[in-house]
Amino acid sequence: MPRYIFVTGGVVSSLGKGIATASIGLLLKRRGLRVSLLKFDPYLNVDPGTMNPYQHGEVFVTEDGAETDLDLGHYERFLDENMTRFNNVTAGQVYFSLIQKEREGRFLGKTVQVVPHLTEEIKSRIRLLAKPDVDVVISEIGGTVGDIESLPFLEAIRQMRLEEGPQKTFFIHITLVPFIPSAGEVKTKPTQHSVMKLREIGIQPDLLLCRVESELPREAQDKIALFANLPRGHVIEEPDVANIYKVPLILKDRRVDQIIVESLGWDLPEPSLEDWIEWVERCRSPKHTVTIALAGKYVHLKDAYKSVFEALDHAACALQADLQVRLVNTEWVEKEGPEPYFADVDGILIPGGFGHRGVEGKIQTVRYAREQKVPYLGLCLGMQVACIEFARHVIGWPQANSKEFDPDTPYPVITLLPGQGEDTPYGGTLRLGGYPAILARPSRAYEVYGQEQIVERHRHRYEFNPKYRALFEQHGMRLSGISPDGTLVEIVEIPDHPFFIAVQFHPEFKSRPLRPHPLFYHFLKAALAYRKARLSSHA
Ligand code: GLN
Repeated sequence: MPRYIFVTGGVVSSLGKGIATASIGLLLKRRGLRVSLLKFDPYLNVDPGTMNPYQHGEVFVTEDGAETDLDLGHYERFLDENMTRFNNVTAGQVYFSLIQKEREGRFLGKTVQVVPHLTEEIKSRIRLLAKPDVDVVISEIGGTVGDIESLPFLEAIRQMRLEEGPQKTFFIHITLVPFIPSAGEVKTKPTQHSVMKLREIGIQPDLLLCRVESELPREAQDKIALFANLPRGHVIEEPDVANIYKVPLILKDRRVDQIIVESLGWDLPEPSLEDWIEWVERCRSPKHTVTIALAGKYVHLKDAYKSVFEALDHAACALQADLQVRLVNTEWVEKEGPEPYFADVDGILIPGGFGHRGVEGKIQTVRYAREQKVPYLGLCLGMQVACIEFARHVIGWPQANSKEFDPDTPYPVITLLPGQGEDTPYGGTLRLGGYPAILARPSRAYEVYGQEQIVERHRHRYEFNPKYRALFEQHGMRLSGISPDGTLVEIVEIPDHPFFIAVQFHPEFKSRPLRPHPLFYHFLKAALAYRKARLSSHA
């Protein structure tokens, strides 16, 4: 019978609940348990697909094509397993299905209420993951205890303990214990209040993870334990770390996984983490330096490009490089030209994006990368602008564009293909999730991947216009990845360049710490070589 772990957060948001949840998942997996993870998001949007990245950060796309919370990215990267649409549930989804059932007359004349109907719906989403091949489901409740929106979720998990029994459920509460410089000490009161709030709802946490800047002194730990009605050993400090992949090691060091397995009645060996430890160590001892410009739109919020940063980090670690990322808003490039931003970088990456703002600056950026022979990696929109740039400056069509940015362009090199309705409502109208591509041989893409067929994740509406394929090839752009039915262009590259690859998909979603994505790995490798050449030519 599966067991259930619940993770809630208190005091403030952004405490790294997702990373803690993923870390606990990893520790339990490495003890031999089969783990399933679930993120509940209490907002009313059906999914984050329509939200502004400044509201929500990156939209993480799963292999099965769901647009999900960025915590699912952490889950995949720590567990090294693919998540599905069932691993992220929003309040919008549970209300939506409840109301649909009501319209279908499934409640037989009853009044439909938050308790029990909505809470039943929530519990059913948790139990859906408790398949026979799963030992433990870890559910993370988004938001902060005390929020109005998260109440039905907390009520549902309270009921879970009642129904499953205390031996089969375990509640973890993550809080902040701030250090107040003027008092020269940490303050436990917010944590006490947060636990009080949780107990008001009827949930007694079994373990507290206290986020602290550096350490949680013994007296503070004692005080929290007393007020939270917990043994002292169950009040754990979780200090800030520079490398998030150290969190599992910190939690293991503080016996979090041991406390959990004991409480849930398992007698299991210590987790084996040699490869993980070795990898974290490797990241700590860089031998090279490399600077990459990330030319996008959301330069004030790294979370908007979370998986891109992670994928770059994984590759940098594997190459033992100290990676510096320069975030460049391409609207600045429109005003000042590319030179001030890119003259001293070793590689340029243009990530995905929607809307016309900054697109002309992106086109100038790719032109600079192509002409100056700076290693270039284009992701999704980063491929589309590479094609527009090529059409304008190599083929010689100054008005070439994507229909997204200029619906009347005489040269729509990027366009909507038949069947992709222009009048469909927003939300769920994109090409989403894993699709295969066949790689040309010989090609740079084939060298990079080392295999002929790949599957990569998509999230876009527009495509390379197939009627221009022959012309692009004639002018020297190689279309090196094509969908198996021969219709869609998935990868383009410029052979006469140290590294110029642009892809219609998002490889960043599939990079894992111990298995960096080959595109990012080879891009950084090319950037390191470029740096060497650049610095020696300056010398
Ligand atoms: N806006 C482009 C499209 O819809 C690219 C999307 C993206 O980069 N994810 O096709």
